[in-house]
Amino acid sequence: MEKASCAVIQDLLPLYVDQVVSEDTKKLVNQHLQTCRACQKEYEQMSQTMSVPVERDVKVFEKINQKWNRKKVLLVAGSVFLTALLCTAVFMYVFYFEKLIPYSEDLIVIEQQKDGKLISNYYGKSHAGIHMTHPIEVEINGEIKNITLMNYVQTIGNSPTSNFLQKDERIGPLTFQVPESKSVDAVYYGHFDVEKVMLTQEQTWKELLQEMTLIWEK
Ligand SMILES: [Zn+2]
Repeated sequence: MEKASCAVIQDLLPLYVDQVVSEDTKKLVNQHLQTCRACQKEYEQMSQTMSVPVERDVKVFEKINQKWNRKKVLLVAGSVFLTALLCTAVFMYVFYFEKLIPYSEDLIVIEQQKDGKLISNYYGKSHAGIHMTHPIEVEINGEIKNITLMNYVQTIGNSPTSNFLQKDERIGPLTFQVPESKSVDAVYYGHFDVEKVMLTQEQTWKELLQEMTLIWEK
């Protein structure tokens, strides 16, 4: 191959740097660069200015990075949300998932006051709630009676034995007045679903009261 002039080589250099030349041209330029300092310098300068695509790569990388950051932020937000949800669920479970407190004579005592009103005394450390009906007219053994259904419920946070959040500085029982108690003939304790009896009649009063405990009677 005949020796190429510097002018020809320098014309070819941009293509050579971009690597879009044929193998023959590449060889030609390679050979020339090995022997010619001037063209070598030209080549080096050109390679440096050609490093622009590298910068573009950096930008692309930054974009990817930004995207990833956004993803990360979403992930963090997501896990914060999930954590909050989980905490709420645990909180709900601890404080709102109600379980019936089983009746015991030491724990729950119905007491008739001098004025005839009924009071429910609760001797446990805490409870989550009390359910009590107004007197309901029911026929028991051929007799019409006004009965009150009641129960105390606990949660994990509030139970007869736990002082979960509050100090128990109470002296004596926690009292609750039985509504319209002067007309009440009997108080039944246990789980009850009045709707089942009154609205859907899936259950008879007899069936319901058999599952409950008679804890006070006139
Ligand atoms: Zn040259």
